[in-house]
Amino acid sequence: MGYAYLFKKESELSYNMASKDSVPYLYIPDLRYAGIEHFFATRKAAGHHSIPFSLREKFVMVKQVHGDNILVMDKPLEDVSVFIKDVTQKPCDAIITNQENIGIGVVTADCLPVLLYDPTRSVIAAIHAGWRGTLQQILPKVVCQMVSVFRCKVEDIIAGMGPSIGPCCYTVGKAVTEPLKSVNPEWEKYLTPSEDGKAKLDLTSLNIRQIEDAGILGKNIFSVRLCTACNEGLFFSYRRDGVGTGRMISGILMTGDE
Ligand SMILES: [Zn+2]
Repeated sequence: MGYAYLFKKESELSYNMASKDSVPYLYIPDLRYAGIEHFFATRKAAGHHSIPFSLREKFVMVKQVHGDNILVMDKPLEDVSVFIKDVTQKPCDAIITNQENIGIGVVTADCLPVLLYDPTRSVIAAIHAGWRGTLQQILPKVVCQMVSVFRCKVEDIIAGMGPSIGPCCYTVGKAVTEPLKSVNPEWEKYLTPSEDGKAKLDLTSLNIRQIEDAGILGKNIFSVRLCTACNEGLFFSYRRDGVGTGRMISGILMTGDE
């Protein structure tokens, strides 16, 4: 295991590893509820084979474009395979659903994957948050949709933040620092300036702050806090490996089982 960027004792780690059919994955123990399954895949399995759900063919992903469009699935799907084929081309960076037995997920390799669950209204969401999506407030926008479309209460929503590039490795330039400084008076909590005019960004902490501002309770937010760039044996990293690197799927599913 490589570098976890908030050092914790083993007993306090907010993630764990498991495997299904010899495919390892990470999960957050505090996000394990009866009736839902979730995972953050590692680099040790590729594509759909990394999805540890029984019904891999009922797994919805979208065309991620670093934007803030949200796919809302609030009705039963008539033909799942046709829907999935269509939606794969839809430019979106987040998915919300209240439908059971349809997995939803995002792919990342440094960007932050976030999974949300409201156990009261039975609603799940999967979000891809890179710096562009974060500056567009994608997470608060998803929370807002969960409230307006599914009548979720923000205080019921539980959040799991997956592995992403940590503040140890995430050097960003003016395209990130200037807009962040202009909208966030507390930017020094998330940006550590370096001499060359660049800065190191703590993407996970910034997203946690955004959902806390949106009303999600701190006690309901759990984070893996593993850096994808530092942990080469476990994760793909775009910053470390370049354009040709792989992507890791993170996903969530409501089974309806008690
Ligand atoms: Zn790192």
